[in-house]
Amino acid sequence: METGPEPSPVPTLMPARKRIGLVAHDNKKRDLLEWARFNRQTLAQHQLFATGTTGALLAQELDLPVTRLKSGPLGGDQQLGAMIADGAIDLLVFFWDPLEPLPHDPDVKALLRIAVVWNIPVACNRATADFLISSPLLCQT
Ligand code: PGA
Repeated sequence: METGPEPSPVPTLMPARKRIGLVAHDNKKRDLLEWARFNRQTLAQHQLFATGTTGALLAQELDLPVTRLKSGPLGGDQQLGAMIADGAIDLLVFFWDPLEPLPHDPDVKALLRIAVVWNIPVACNRATADFLISSPLLCQT
């Protein structure tokens, strides 16, 4: 059986061009799109991955390449979680909806959990996303 790297509390080396995962629940999509439009220039320097609908909207809004996974309720959150465990996502912007239960709530929890396990930066609202995207660490290795 293949064993990957073990989770570490110490930040591991990341590429300068970050692989950014983006997810927004339906009530939060407008928020994410506005944030992404405002930060388009910075996002253009990185590699973007998103769940299905979020990814389609972002690609249209930004006119940038976005790798689209499955829609969240159909397994997209789990795909992102697997990528985090594989070391293939460096940063997660996940605007989940705190006011509405969703059928894939267990997947949402699992994605947040695995992001903490692998010690990657996670932004769950615009204020945190602003801090992350303006961090000098974003373009460092
Ligand atoms: P979506 O999935 O981008 O396909 O809407 C997001 C989610 O609901 O987790």
